[in-house]
Amino acid sequence: MTQIQEKITELHASLPEGVELVAVSKFHPAEAIKEAYDAGQRIFGESRVQEFLQKIDVLPSDIRWHFIGHLQTNKVKMLMGKTAMIESVDSDRLLRLIDMESQKAGVTTRVLMQVHVAKEETKFGFYPEELLDFFRNREFETLKATHICGIMGMASNTDNKERVRADFREIRNTFVEILKIAPDLRGFETVSMGMSGDWPLAVEEGSTLVRVGTAIFGARDYSK
Ligand SMILES: *Cc1c(COP(=O)(O)O)cnc(C)c1O
Repeated sequence: MTQIQEKITELHASLPEGVELVAVSKFHPAEAIKEAYDAGQRIFGESRVQEFLQKIDVLPSDIRWHFIGHLQTNKVKMLMGKTAMIESVDSDRLLRLIDMESQKAGVTTRVLMQVHVAKEETKFGFYPEELLDFFRNREFETLKATHICGIMGMASNTDNKERVRADFREIRNTFVEILKIAPDLRGFETVSMGMSGDWPLAVEEGSTLVRVGTAIFGARDYSK
């Protein structure tokens, strides 16, 4: 078994029933993905459109690709019909565009709404209150070819465990509040939170989908 395969096997064994793993393969080559695939991993996360499109061409077709990066509106079209999920819907404008392009392409796109709770200025996403308003106003009902499956969020980038835990709790609470506001939402069941450094905490706080990159594939080389 390769090191990547050992990590995948370990993670599969550690994650409780009902928590799925997205292996975040951004910046890593197709060969690394194939190794993880051969250890049974089927969901992979990518964050750059060009890189993603190159990889899907050379890898098995039963991989479920999650797009997890900030998506520029001019690139939405290129993703249509190619993702199992776009986890990073961070604006109303992006959501509308995904819906429009999905209709044009004749596909339904599954998405998560990205919620911003971390204390950093640079992170994308809706503030919890904005997201609650979106559902209060039942704006999801106007979508024709987009299925909102849940929410995605990131905790603050800090070693302070209590801070991180509080962020995860806020993400989970936002999810619970949305379900109270719109109990008739269908298939709204995913809480995507937790990365290499904090996934065990995220699972404790109710994550159903963890996105782990570095702990599987090693450090990313951003010069590539
Ligand atoms: C890169 C990335 C991850 C994976 O981060 P690691 O620390 O390498 O596990 C998870 N989620 C998002 C949104 C990312 O962009």
